[in-house]
Amino acid sequence: MEIRVIGTWNSKLSKNRRNTSYIINNNILMDCGPHTAESFINNGIKFSDIDIILISHMHLDHYGGLPEFIWQRAFESTDKKIMIIGPDDIEKRTHNILNEYYTPDYFKKNIEFNGNFENIIIGNGKHSIKDYTYRLEIGNKTLFYTGDTSYSEEIIKNGYNSDIFIHEATYPSNMEDIAAKYGHSTVNGAYKSFKSSRSKIFIPTHMSELSLHEIAEIDDGDILLPEENKKYVIP
Ligand SMILES: [Zn+2]
Repeated sequence: MEIRVIGTWNSKLSKNRRNTSYIINNNILMDCGPHTAESFINNGIKFSDIDIILISHMHLDHYGGLPEFIWQRAFESTDKKIMIIGPDDIEKRTHNILNEYYTPDYFKKNIEFNGNFENIIIGNGKHSIKDYTYRLEIGNKTLFYTGDTSYSEEIIKNGYNSDIFIHEATYPSNMEDIAAKYGHSTVNGAYKSFKSSRSKIFIPTHMSELSLHEIAEIDDGDILLPEENKKYVIP
């Protein structure tokens, strides 16, 4: 399984950081924050290589780059179909936004929404709005991805026994109350959920300066600290 890192950051951006987003096996995009299109271009990735976009929830930092993605993809004149999966009537909302931007009709061709795939299992995160988690079972590898979430048993159940467990870690461990209040996790909370899930590799994401600093101090062989614009191959 190949994981390309587009962004690792929470909604409040820092210099040289993009909002949380990953490409799996060169064709599945997980979340599409602002600057996703810019990252594709800078890294020489074709928009038309993406077959499926999985949106965890409709906050700007996870969804706000989708209209631009659709525009840039249209310039590649592809006849391929793309499937967009997400909560909260994503099809209607996306069409509304595209219409607000006077998007030409032919830009919207070959876009489908919320199809069913056997190897994509949707669960629920615990956030301030409806929020999906995704479990991908591809070949002999399983990857689990949370959107934004505070602790929930369902995360552990749906992420159980994954090879790769990508979990948000917005806050440092001493800010548990604030994390829970806003539907987020601390480093400690995310790591505990990872351990409870008995998964193999923990990739923290949706980080902040404070949470990154804490994660970088943890000396444990099961954490992969993702670097933006890098590609990781999990054998
Ligand atoms: Zn977020």
